[in-house]
Amino acid sequence: MPKSLLPLLAGALMVYCVTPASSGTIKDYRELILDGHQLKWGAPVLGAGAVVTYALADKAMTFVGARNCKSIAPVDGVLAANRVDEKAFQAELAAALAGWQAVADISFRPADPVSADIIIGAEVEPLGRAFTNVVYDEASSGSGPRRLRQSVICLNPAERWKVGFDGNLSTYDLRYTLMHEIGHAIGLDHPAGRNAVMDFAYRERFRVLQPGDIAGVTAIYGQPKPAAELPVIASDEKAPGTIAR
Ligand SMILES: [Zn+2]
Repeated sequence: MPKSLLPLLAGALMVYCVTPASSGTIKDYRELILDGHQLKWGAPVLGAGAVVTYALADKAMTFVGARNCKSIAPVDGVLAANRVDEKAFQAELAAALAGWQAVADISFRPADPVSADIIIGAEVEPLGRAFTNVVYDEASSGSGPRRLRQSVICLNPAERWKVGFDGNLSTYDLRYTLMHEIGHAIGLDHPAGRNAVMDFAYRERFRVLQPGDIAGVTAIYGQPKPAAELPVIASDEKAPGTIAR
């Protein structure tokens, strides 16, 4: 049976949360661990790559047993309230996904919301800023990682959102927030160190994945495939000197 995980902590992206420095080693990434197991998409083997599908919610959806993102709606309201058009939002989401895809053997494909691995929407009951709920397969055997079954990312429509950084830390950048929440959705938690997109605090110091984020995702999914191993898309247009294959 799938088990729903209830990590307010793992799912929350909060601002102005100042905590004392963790004792012990400051690690630049932390795996999401539930019941003693890491969580990942694809084969339940560390370092094995995965193809993950995603979709935006196209209607109200309810996830029974979820602690975070229990009910979500399409993001339209979030976009309208913040004057972000849908194309711009799609571009920010694509950039957030591409950031992870570029540095590890994980690739994202669009899918129907009914069957997508990762579903993105707006909270029906506004809470916090953004959350991720993950469901994993408890039945996986052995002591290795457990397979993720579904991740739901929800944004609070009552908060202010924007595209890009402008120094105003009370309005969150959509791309950065999505990149952070996608990190949870694929098996990462908040690290002890602060120099990471996966850090729990929103600070606008960098807008791309940091070395710790990259180390974390490659530990789970392996290095990105060299371009030579990617499927070649047939095309009639061949640059001079290239060999069609
Ligand atoms: Zn978080």
